[in-house]
Amino acid sequence: MTEVDRTQTGPDPRVYEHLAAIVGSRYASMSEDVRYTYSEDFLTFEKPGRADYVVMPKTTEEVQAIMRLANRQRIPVVPWASNLSIGSLATPLDGGIVIDLKRMNRVLEVNEDDLYFIVEGGASSADVVGYMNRHYPGYRVPVTFAPPSCGYVASSLLYGMTDLSMAYGDASFFINAFEAVLPTGEVIHTGSRMASPYWSHHSALPDFGLNGLFIGWTGTSGVITKAGIKLFVRRPYRTDYFMDADTVERGFKVQRMCARTGVVDDIASNNWGWGRVEAGESLPFSEGRRQGEPELSSWIALSGNTVKEIEAKEELIKDIVSKGGAQLTLFEEGIKNFCKGDQIKFFKYLPMQLSNDISGARGGRAQWVGGFCPPSMNAPIYRAVEKVYDKWGYTAEGQPIQAYNRFMDHGHEGIIRYNIFGSKDDTPETVERHRACLREIAQTMRDHGTILYKAPPVFARMNWERTNPAAMDIIRTLKRRIDPNGIMNPGQMDI
Ligand SMILES: Cc1cc2nc3c(=O)[nH]c(=O)nc-3n(C[C@H](O)[C@H](O)[C@H](O)COP(=O)(O)OP(=O)(O)OC[C@H]3O[C@@H](n4cnc5c(N)ncnc54)[C@H](O)[C@@H]3O)c2cc1C
Repeated sequence: MTEVDRTQTGPDPRVYEHLAAIVGSRYASMSEDVRYTYSEDFLTFEKPGRADYVVMPKTTEEVQAIMRLANRQRIPVVPWASNLSIGSLATPLDGGIVIDLKRMNRVLEVNEDDLYFIVEGGASSADVVGYMNRHYPGYRVPVTFAPPSCGYVASSLLYGMTDLSMAYGDASFFINAFEAVLPTGEVIHTGSRMASPYWSHHSALPDFGLNGLFIGWTGTSGVITKAGIKLFVRRPYRTDYFMDADTVERGFKVQRMCARTGVVDDIASNNWGWGRVEAGESLPFSEGRRQGEPELSSWIALSGNTVKEIEAKEELIKDIVSKGGAQLTLFEEGIKNFCKGDQIKFFKYLPMQLSNDISGARGGRAQWVGGFCPPSMNAPIYRAVEKVYDKWGYTAEGQPIQAYNRFMDHGHEGIIRYNIFGSKDDTPETVERHRACLREIAQTMRDHGTILYKAPPVFARMNWERTNPAAMDIIRTLKRRIDPNGIMNPGQMDI
């Protein structure tokens, strides 16, 4: 095949022919409408990109063939699950081939003895949870609040916050092993699968953390085709509570105290602004924070093997919350008073469609910035970020600060996100204001020691600017070794 002219923008029919020969013409496209669909996330304030070709492989071998072609011809490749990270991370910024992994959506094995399952790289949360509920109802898998169509493996690669993360850490902690196709077309196995037929452990060899070649890399190091992920026994008893606090200082403190008990599955919280949106209230609000309205509302999930076990856990949590001066309400009671919309009722049954958040009625547009901050810094960061919202005209009376957080791994780590809702009808000036405010929030978070995650290029750069030079050098060296022609998701990570 002759060399493609990379100075031309848009697709080259010769490349398309080759792709169609690999995956079949039904699963390869260079038509304008399909390319448009993959050109942006239609959600955030990030700029559109350009997809030249879209392919939907079914097997690891097909992914290999696509990568070899792309590497030979130096064509960018973007792995794509659903591009719903709210950071536009699968938007092709430099054209090229979008690999939509949706056809690689099977759960291949469930190992009940060793408590893991193997899933293909493009499976959605709905694929995984649906399969497990149908065939293995005695088990549960960690799931985020994201819509059911979101990539399951993608979420693990992006440090997702799951409904088991308080107990076991963010979603990257659940990964045992990968099968991945490198940009050169080689297949690599990581974790225990490197040296064993089992996908049961993250590694046992001198540990370079080879899983880490893909976690947090935003699709810039290869395509995960299979992942071995931890499986959990479903405990028969479960109780959920709302925990309301008058201030974020108190709320975060009590959350941390609950986390340390080691008995909680999940604690997530919304500040009053985001809570109201999820409860169905429209933006802009007609009034600021109401008399007695909690500043932070948390949701605490407990589970147990016996009634006695769960009662003991409840007792412990009730005591901590009461001593901390917050208010505990049983979930079933809380939803009666708390919410106008229906949505929160389904929080117990993930994955769910968080339509209230980003529905057309709210303008259909949103973006957040967030990251790992030291758990003790949540409240000071909140107060600093509040001032940024105010400065850019997002006031308590109209469109206030929107925060959502999760402490994880028994309080060892925590993520907090700040959000701005926008409208498809926003003028370019308004969009620029949203972007500028988010940038300043990100900078404020960085100044307080936060590492930004799921970060589109502008935020990723803020991380790199203050990353240890020796560590950066190793990251760059690895990147060059893995992806010598720089074809993987170019522009996104920008190291
Ligand atoms: C309304 C809403 C609520 C959400 N709530 C939460 C929440 O509570 N907690 C949470 O953690 N997240 C949440 N999210 C974000 C979401 O869970 C994750 O970002 C999502 O699971 C990632 O899946 P995706 O399909 O969007 O991935 P994509 O955006 O398609 O991919 C993400 C990145 O990974 C790369 N990638 C994808 N698949 C592969 C692969 N197989 N191999 C290599 N690279 C790959 C892509 O190139 C891209 O850079 C929410 C999202 C929405 C829209």
